[in-house]
Amino acid sequence: HAQFAVKRAKTSGRTELYHTRAFDIAREQFSVETELRRAVENGEMTLSYQPIWDLGSGRIVSFEALARWTNERGVALSPNDFIPVAEESGLIVPLGRWAMEEAARTLAAWDRRAGGDCGVKVAVNLSAIQLQRDRIPEMVQAALEQAGIAGSRLTLELTESAIVSDPDRISRTMMALKDLGATLAMDDFGTGYSNLAYLQKLPIDLLKIDRSFISGMLADRDKIAIVRAVLSLAQALGMQTTAEGIETNELAQTLAALGCTYGQGYLYARPLVEAEAYAFLAARSA
Ligand code: C2E
Ligand code: MG
Ligand code: MG
Ligand code: MG
Repeated sequence: HAQFAVKRAKTSGRTELYHTRAFDIAREQFSVETELRRAVENGEMTLSYQPIWDLGSGRIVSFEALARWTNERGVALSPNDFIPVAEESGLIVPLGRWAMEEAARTLAAWDRRAGGDCGVKVAVNLSAIQLQRDRIPEMVQAALEQAGIAGSRLTLELTESAIVSDPDRISRTMMALKDLGATLAMDDFGTGYSNLAYLQKLPIDLLKIDRSFISGMLADRDKIAIVRAVLSLAQALGMQTTAEGIETNELAQTLAALGCTYGQGYLYARPLVEAEAYAFLAARSA
């Protein structure tokens, strides 16, 4: 109501503009949150699956599960927009649980169709907020057991923001996830503000080099220098690496030559709906 009052009081000028925008943003956020809550409760979210390739052998090693949501007006919202709303509202906890369960169920269904281990892992993103508010190892274990999937078939992608908040707690959580057999990946590596010392202390298996360093890398000396440094750091620490956002053959070849382990990007495939992802895998493992 305050915003309306300001709008009525001033017929023109910056104040009106500012307050109207702030109000619109708040209202937009509120409606996204309301619709998102309904979507999570009613099971209207889906997951898409993007293949991740071994750059050396050219084989698919895993699929990253990525949340997708189309609202009631038929507009597909980007996770870059709705995941922050889910985090601020706490909805990330049920959403994240659902994503973990759904990804495990999908992998179990693929195994059944393949008549055994379908040959890939599934990677699930975990938000820092989820790690603070949910009992993650218990949640992950329950999802795996319900689906009948071994922990060794799962990669969990965390971001540096998860570490900044409570290093001791995250360390215990990560140890418990390792005990389940999961692979632990640091997502968007290089974009956070954390102290690199965590790499020594935490049981991280894999660094995912953020797309912002990969795209345009061939024409940018600074980006290449950063990518090389990350690759040699990972090698020295015994970690594997995934390059995100590979869109050209030249990039794939260069990254393979530099010793990057895995790659993911539109060159290989966009995130695919479940049935397409399985068909894609079956066609390439035949
Ligand atoms: P992310 O985990 O870093 O996932 C990779 C993102 O890069 C995906 O965006 C993917 O579609 C995009 N991508 C992959 N290859 C290319 C490429 O070659 N070119 C370009 N331009 N983009 C590429 P998406 O699906 O929009 O997801 C954005 C972010 O939203 C994810 O980034 C992740 O941080 C978050 N997210 C998505 N699903 C979930 C979820 O279930 N839980 C949580 N906590 N976060 C999620
Ligand atoms: Mg990810
Ligand atoms: Mg990433
Ligand atoms: Mg990213």
